[in-house]
Amino acid sequence: MATTTASGFIHGAFIGNRMVTAASGDTVPVIDPANGEVFTHITECGAAEVDAAVAAGRAALDEGEWGRMPAFERGRLLARLSQAITANAVELAALESRDTGKPARQASADITAAARYFEFYAGAADKMHGETIPYLNGFFVATEREPHGVVAHVIPWNYPAQMFGRNVAPSLAVGNAVVVKPAEDACLSVLRMAGLAAEVGFPAGALAVLPGRGAVTGALLSGHHDIDYIAFTGSPAVGEMIQVAAARRAIGCTLELGGKSPHILFGDADLSLAVPAIVNGIVNNAGQTCSAGSRVLVERAHFDRLVGAIAEAFGRLRAGTPEMDLDLGPVINPGQRQRVERFCDQAERDGIALLAQGSIAGNVPDGGLFVAPRLYGPVDPANVLARDEVFGPVLCVIPFEDEAEALHLANDSEFGLLAGVWTNDGGRALRLARRIKAGQIYINGFAAGGGIELPFGGVKRSGHGREKGLAAMHELSTIKTIIQRHG
Ligand code: NAD
Repeated sequence: MATTTASGFIHGAFIGNRMVTAASGDTVPVIDPANGEVFTHITECGAAEVDAAVAAGRAALDEGEWGRMPAFERGRLLARLSQAITANAVELAALESRDTGKPARQASADITAAARYFEFYAGAADKMHGETIPYLNGFFVATEREPHGVVAHVIPWNYPAQMFGRNVAPSLAVGNAVVVKPAEDACLSVLRMAGLAAEVGFPAGALAVLPGRGAVTGALLSGHHDIDYIAFTGSPAVGEMIQVAAARRAIGCTLELGGKSPHILFGDADLSLAVPAIVNGIVNNAGQTCSAGSRVLVERAHFDRLVGAIAEAFGRLRAGTPEMDLDLGPVINPGQRQRVERFCDQAERDGIALLAQGSIAGNVPDGGLFVAPRLYGPVDPANVLARDEVFGPVLCVIPFEDEAEALHLANDSEFGLLAGVWTNDGGRALRLARRIKAGQIYINGFAAGGGIELPFGGVKRSGHGREKGLAAMHELSTIKTIIQRHG
């Protein structure tokens, strides 16, 4: 969805099934992370566009076709959108790579995942039902699931297409009118998929996408007087603001705020499985993944062998442009690169050994925002590198003596999103899985961000509420209880 105006090529907002540019004329430049150059602009939605999108959603629910549409028909529309995403996968993947810098294969996998979200929730749309409840004599009681109403989804730049599927598909499946505020750094695939939604027949008002900066468009949307629920994925600092905005109006919110997810690696683990999963779990998307496994707790008696295997794999990693399609691409923007470099400089000042470092391909453009993947250790559990979310391809290793210490270290974090346990002792794995405080625990596997069917979300400062799976449909809907006296 783009237009050419006096100020150049601009990607507009998507409201009422039409592309519009902001009345203010404000725009935000978008850079290509692989060369650091501005390659396009997005419109920046202000109060007029936020009002229009929310009003269109309200009208679609109260007066329009969307609010009256049977669940199975919503499901059919979702299925058609899934097919349209698949049919346009090559174009969408290219957009996603340009916008985020992702290697071609990773962008392509993200588009496949976005299509899968719509496919999964297409099938689920007409399978969410209420219950009957035994009550007093002479009464019949039933519950039904209702949409919240107009739902604001504020999403980040790390997986724009996947985040669109993860948020929008379950929200539309339960019948909400959806207003998406994608991240200013990367929103082109989201705008394109919104266009596809209109093409496959979603009625006007069911879905709007409002590009713009967080402090402008995001703040206006999350503080809007007529939204009924907010779903947010991003930084803890903005998550706090979202929760305050929701509290002011006593509406609900889901917060997904990232983590410092640990792997616990025992000496008896199958390293042929563990090493690639641990390495991929931190370098996929250049480490900019909320559920990245960014700490490896390693059994001290086997430290050299286990860490040696990870270091060997780390040393082989290569960063490059999307077209080079190597292990990782650039990070999203100069601020993010500075953030990662700050952590690495601090680690060096703190005297932490650099155990291995990947490389950056020699022929990348000068302005590209590349960061070489780094493995540090042993790291003191109190060190900032072991505690804070770097959001880059930086992994730290921390030794432990025994199961009890491993559990203590895993839980010694303000976050609680994912964890991986690697051991051939099934009892030990299950004991740990049941006592680690996190929303998802993998045993002998790890897929940061994977699993459309699997409820996902955090505890503690990683946030609250669940996305993915059928749990997302529960989160994005509410229960009405109908009590009828029949005598
Ligand atoms: P952010 O929280 O600022 O942005 C996430 C989304 O919130 C974007 O759409 C943004 O425009 C919007 N936003 C920003 N300020 C807002 C406001 N005041 N009101 C409403 N919406 C607002 O995240 P970021 O600046 O893009 O990244 C900073 C850090 O956040 C990263 O380094 C990383 O640690 C973390 N992060 C986490 C995730 C995740 O998946 N959990 C994703 C992206 C970033």
